[in-house]
Amino acid sequence: MAILERITRNIDNRFWDPGSEAFPVKNRYTAGMAGQRFFKEIKENGKIFGSKCQSCKITYVPARIYCERCFERLEEWVDVGTEGTIYSFTVVYKTKSGKPKESPSIIVAVKIADGLLIHRLNGCSVEDIQIGMPVKAEFKPKAERRGGIEDIKYFKPL
Ligand SMILES: [Zn+2]
Repeated sequence: MAILERITRNIDNRFWDPGSEAFPVKNRYTAGMAGQRFFKEIKENGKIFGSKCQSCKITYVPARIYCERCFERLEEWVDVGTEGTIYSFTVVYKTKSGKPKESPSIIVAVKIADGLLIHRLNGCSVEDIQIGMPVKAEFKPKAERRGGIEDIKYFKPL
């Protein structure tokens, strides 16, 4: 289920079977005005958009509708490109059920403009990761995108 879809049966939103590998993250509501547009740009155009506060000179990524510092409504949408730098990272060695993974996953916080996106890092070993390393988003083919953050397959080193 992509973020743009809605749950049609309330029971689908009530529990998670801890024995299953899939963690059912389902949203009953939309991602909001800015979130909807943010995901639509990813899905339809393969672009990452932020929104800029003219007063504070901050570009929020993901895009937001209000500035969290001065509460101005943000009207300026900014194509921030698909590249950023590693702000932080963690390495995952076990599955959600606690079993060892065949190979560790690297989860990164990627700084783009003045915001962060949390995603996977591929194409880099744990030993080679450096804070500040430049990375680029790798998108799924357009036909496979569903309007969520998973439309970005992963980030990879430049
Ligand atoms: Zn502001």
